[in-house]
Amino acid sequence: MDQTLAIIKPDAASRALTGKIVSRIESNGLKIIAMKLIHMSKDQAEDFYIEHKERPFFDSLTDYMASGPCYVIVLEGEKAQLQWRDAMGATNPVDAADGTIRKDFGQSLEQNSVHGSDSPSSAAREIAFFFSELEIM
Ligand code: ADP
Ligand code: MG
Repeated sequence: MDQTLAIIKPDAASRALTGKIVSRIESNGLKIIAMKLIHMSKDQAEDFYIEHKERPFFDSLTDYMASGPCYVIVLEGEKAQLQWRDAMGATNPVDAADGTIRKDFGQSLEQNSVHGSDSPSSAAREIAFFFSELEIM
């Protein structure tokens, strides 16, 4: 079994879409093995998205991620990273396939409702960023 980190980003958490997104997770056969509500500081958001430090959208992205509460979630399932990214859809909601979360709920390229790790190594790093072993079932 593989694990991945999902985030219900501030735009979705603030519009009361958490239940709908959790329902998509569960109907895709992914299992929630840890979940908590957090409000990242700007510093924490910058650390989390360090790979994008040189990108022009970095400052705006990290302001947004620190703008309100979000849910961080560990998912388990076969090919969990791929499966969850399929359910999320393309980064830009305009390009996301019908039936994906970003297509249905995303507000803009930046405020695209959900995050998912893009590889086993990023999943390991991102899960350890938010959770201790004790917090994961
Ligand atoms: P993904 O979340 O699909 O893995 P990236 O890792 O490329 O996408 O980017 C991380 C996040 O940064 C995106 O989910 C989105 O919120 C934001 N983002 C990406 N590209 C842009 C952009 N060109 N302008 C504004 N925000 C962006
Ligand atoms: Mg990414």
